Amino acid sequence: MSPPAPSGVSVGVIGGGIFGATAAWELAAAGLAVTLYEKRDDILSGTTSRNFFRVHRGYHYPRDLPTARDARDGFDSFAQVFSAAFTAPVPHHYAIAMADSLTTVEQFERHCDRVGLRARRTRLPELVPGSVAVCFEVDEAYYDTTLLRKLAWECLLSAQVRVELRSARAARDIARAHDFVVVAAYGSLNEILPDLGCEPIELQYELCEVPIVHTPDLDRLSLVVLDGPFVSVAPYGGNCHALYDLVHSVHA
Ligand SMILES: Cc1cc2nc3c(=O)[nH]c(=O)nc-3n(C[C@H](O)[C@H](O)[C@H](O)COP(=O)(O)OP(=O)(O)OC[C@H]3O[C@@H](n4cnc5c(N)ncnc54)[C@H](O)[C@@H]3O)c2cc1C
Repeated sequence: MSPPAPSGVSVGVIGGGIFGATAAWELAAAGLAVTLYEKRDDILSGTTSRNFFRVHRGYHYPRDLPTARDARDGFDSFAQVFSAAFTAPVPHHYAIAMADSLTTVEQFERHCDRVGLRARRTRLPELVPGSVAVCFEVDEAYYDTTLLRKLAWECLLSAQVRVELRSARAARDIARAHDFVVVAAYGSLNEILPDLGCEPIELQYELCEVPIVHTPDLDRLSLVVLDGPFVSVAPYGGNCHALYDLVHSVHA
């Protein structure tokens, strides 16, 4: 499909992660002249390529129905464009801890019903007996960063977005060069807002340790122990898993 004729309105998007790249090609597809500015060597090289790669569907938010519904709907719209970046299906599990969980088994099942998510009670041999009350197998997906980057480039090029990599341009210069600016710089947001004459916003930063562990005998186990004593075991490729524990991973 060829993009619509440019409207004459120009937009500068600062930050080429998944948010900036998506905003850029959607605005360009709507007929605006868009330039995407990314300070690194390539798009999708920031947080989008350094996380747990889980494409959330709403299971994660049993105490926040609006966010869960957003995640469910976001999954569908993300999959429409990017499903070719999903990894081969992995059995995903969410479990309710035996002790100290802020969500009970019944509340989790009710939550899944309300959001329209499938959750099937199952047993995971890897779990220490007595550690979780119930384990559920669910439908979620992981994405492959390299494939996601390739698809994002295809979207940007087909919508005729101009992409400036290794950009060192100050935000105020970008603002002067365009009618509108979109700031999609995630953790660097407050380095940019003052340059645009905007108040910084309050952000919370956490220093976390996420061990990547060689786990050849775990195959592709994917597990989240929800809400309270939160633990996540996520496949990381190359016979590895990324481990996260709410208590032990966050150092400061
Ligand atoms: C540890 C961790 C695990 C997570 N796990 C998951 C998960 O499993 N599933 C999930 O859905 N979400 C997860 N998230 C959240 C998810 O990673 C983010 O919501 C998402 O990547 C944010 O995308 P973004 O485009 O806003 O940010 P980024 O991908 O960080 O993109 C921002 C871009 O802005 C660029 N930039 C910054 N300043 C400038 C500047 N001045 N000029 C030009 N470019 C600039 C950066 O280089 C970067 O490329 C996780 C987050 C963390 C921290």
